[in-house]
Amino acid sequence: MSPRALLRAKYILHDSSLRSKSRGLNKMITTEQHIDEKLIPILETVSDPEIPVLSIMDMGVVRSAVLENDIVKIQITPTYSGCPAMDVIGDDIKKALKEVGYNSEIELILAPAWTTDWITTRGRKALEDYGIAAPLDAEADKEVLLGDKRIVKCTNCGSTNTRLVSQFGSTACKAQFQCEDCQEPFDYFKCLK
Ligand SMILES: [Zn+2]
Repeated sequence: MSPRALLRAKYILHDSSLRSKSRGLNKMITTEQHIDEKLIPILETVSDPEIPVLSIMDMGVVRSAVLENDIVKIQITPTYSGCPAMDVIGDDIKKALKEVGYNSEIELILAPAWTTDWITTRGRKALEDYGIAAPLDAEADKEVLLGDKRIVKCTNCGSTNTRLVSQFGSTACKAQFQCEDCQEPFDYFKCLK
């Protein structure tokens, strides 16, 4: 794969929310993000307001970003509905682009809805390093939030001997866990589809 193709591949979405609509055709539909390559490094400098270690690119909220007549047109999909962070993200994107001389227009795209599946592999790693356990798949997520299964890995020692403390952590999108081995409390980023 050429370096350019690799750059694009890094942000290809596997859109499982579309898969469910394909009437039992158990086929993965992929939607590719249309992002102008020269805009990627700029967008990578914009971080998620709630999780500063995560760029909006790794969060998977940018649907498209193209340069049209010297104006950058960007489409973003909000993460959790009604999340006030989205206004902040919009302003941060405009500011980052303005700093390198671009005016921009931002459009919110609500469908298909954002899912935690859109967080990139690098984003998941950044979450773990930051002390937040990355979301499991929907089925496993349900089980751990009902307290049935111990499979969420402690971000401190890696043990799965972890206990759900509260359905809600520092924000509504996280649950609070505690490790029974090293006693470290940590947040788990809940799965959202
Ligand atoms: Zn631990």
